[in-house]
Amino acid sequence: MNHASPPPRIRREDRILAEVEAARDEIVAFTADMIRIPTVNPPGACYRDCAELVGRRLQATGLAIEYVEADGRPEHTAEYPRVNVVGRGPAVPGRPRLHLNGHFDVVPPGEGWTVDPFAGLVRDGRIYGRGASDMKSGIAAAVFAVEALRRAGVELAGAVDISATVDEESGGFAGVAHLCEAGIISSDHTQYAIIPEPFGPTRVCLGHRGVYWFDIIAHGRVAHGSMSHLGRSAIEDMGALLEAFRTGLIPELATRISALPIVPEPSRRPSLNVNAITGGQAGEGTQSPCVADRCVATVDRRFIPEEPFEKVRAEIARLVKSVEDDDPGRRFTIEERMVVHPTSTPCGSPLVAALSHAVEAVRGRPATLVASPGTYDQKHFDRIAGIEHCVAYGPGPLEEAHQPDESCSVDDLVATTQVLALAALELVGPA
Ligand SMILES: [Zn+2]
Repeated sequence: MNHASPPPRIRREDRILAEVEAARDEIVAFTADMIRIPTVNPPGACYRDCAELVGRRLQATGLAIEYVEADGRPEHTAEYPRVNVVGRGPAVPGRPRLHLNGHFDVVPPGEGWTVDPFAGLVRDGRIYGRGASDMKSGIAAAVFAVEALRRAGVELAGAVDISATVDEESGGFAGVAHLCEAGIISSDHTQYAIIPEPFGPTRVCLGHRGVYWFDIIAHGRVAHGSMSHLGRSAIEDMGALLEAFRTGLIPELATRISALPIVPEPSRRPSLNVNAITGGQAGEGTQSPCVADRCVATVDRRFIPEEPFEKVRAEIARLVKSVEDDDPGRRFTIEERMVVHPTSTPCGSPLVAALSHAVEAVRGRPATLVASPGTYDQKHFDRIAGIEHCVAYGPGPLEEAHQPDESCSVDDLVATTQVLALAALELVGPA
């Protein structure tokens, strides 16, 4: 007897993976379209165009769109408006809510490109251009993860929201921080956040180190350069301070190590970098003979979660004071520029579990947990919005961020989109 066998039931997860694969060309085209809008920061160009491109795509995915301008922020100007876009899933009170966020500002292209940084070129399985890795491909992955759930006919119990925001490269104050301060991103309604920054298809980034940026100003006394003994050189005093960093503080920092899996490995130790030195007369043009009465060092101190910030600050103040005390007449002042506290998602977070399961399902190998040496918008999700279950997971090689010929593998982009779709389903649940 011959029975017509029923069609094999395709697993929901397999339907989702197939929908992402079927959208491969659309995902690539959408990424390339974003790259063609030169959203260079500084100054923050073409933000409205890019926000609207993403907004139209989010609308087609069925999300409710809102454009949020950073009213009240000084960098939000008529020439360079700061325009963010938010797409919201349906309101489902009492159900979990996930937020996917990517920044669409990119750093200036710089020198050394062999392809047009804003052409959105696709060649040999890679997308090229400024933002290909950091992080327009990440925005495309977030958008098409949700679109694939829709196309696969999956009803969600909770909801997924997506935002595309500005100014991450300059601190995110008119971007994610603004949305958090306005309550648009908030732990009142959202439990989980994923930022698809470029850590690659198998790495989940738990958080980042802290930053303490400050200027140290050496105050000398101006005099004729031919009678330098009548003045006090601020540049020489700064030299003594730099030497104290080199022989005292920097070796001391190298003895500390974080338990966070920060990559690359040497970044598990705290660090200190002198970002700039300015002193005496401007280098260009004619100079007249003078003892420099002012020298400024801009210092970038990266600290690990094991170092409380107050100790980091006191350690610098103590060292500056001791160099001052070595020589009467030597005087420094410190002016702080920025403090970013370290952040990391709680250990045992369901967010990390969901992404790990999804990486295993898509790539057939476990996810690697890492942490970032530099900061990104996770600090605002944690500190302002109160969403501690926040990680970074997205396509693109981190090493190509901000480099010439920045690119992203199309296969990695598709795999990452699949992982985000499965993780979203696990986090907010099927209806
Ligand atoms: Zn980025």
